[in-house]
Amino acid sequence: MNLWLGVLVGLLATQVSVFVTTIYLHRGLAHKALTVHPGLAWACRAVIWITTGMRPREWAAVHRSHHANTDTAADPHSPIVHGFWRVQLGNVGLYRSAARNEVMVKRYTKDLPADRWDRVLFDHAFLGLGLGLVISVLVLGLGTGLLAAGVHAVTYVMLSGAVNAVGHRVGRRPYPNSATNGQLLALLTAGEGLHNNHHAAPTSATFALDTRAVDPGWWMIRVLRGCHLVSVRHHEVKLKQAA
Ligand SMILES: [Zn+2]
Ligand SMILES: [Zn+2]
Repeated sequence: MNLWLGVLVGLLATQVSVFVTTIYLHRGLAHKALTVHPGLAWACRAVIWITTGMRPREWAAVHRSHHANTDTAADPHSPIVHGFWRVQLGNVGLYRSAARNEVMVKRYTKDLPADRWDRVLFDHAFLGLGLGLVISVLVLGLGTGLLAAGVHAVTYVMLSGAVNAVGHRVGRRPYPNSATNGQLLALLTAGEGLHNNHHAAPTSATFALDTRAVDPGWWMIRVLRGCHLVSVRHHEVKLKQAA
């Protein structure tokens, strides 16, 4: 087993999933802040499927519910309601219990019906995760492949938990909402750590609302826009009332 190769590939896989999560699932699907070219959207769905097993419309539903009910009892993953560590360490359980709520998912995703690809492939979480694991083992060998998958799983889950937990408890609040900005977290999560900015302007494709903020997800969006793979809904920052 090659220890460093396994760790490196695991961390790289996490960064790929983090960028796809913020650009496709979050800014694209959940908020319609940008539109992704159909070919790239299919590739994003495949990446999410084999690296996380999550169903995109369920992710969008849980996230839209978070915005609609921020830090109230109906928020699926509020650290104010559930406690910091329950969200930081138990985010997967909170996400899964919310995603199993079919009434909630239907209510928040009327615009995101399942298609044939979902029914055949992307709705089958364990098939996707199994395929991801097999690819990792075939490319890297058994020990290194399992290590890479393990490093990816732990780091992706912890970073997602941090966006929801740290992103509502620790950091600056330049705008009047309960979310926080953390630049270090933003560097690790392709911009998601600028969570106070995001709650202030949820339909903005960039989370960097001032010149000091660094949003790597926005850099990637600009590259994709240059390649005509992404179009941005609006360029001016449209601030929402306190959320
Ligand atoms: Zn939030
Ligand atoms: Zn959001």
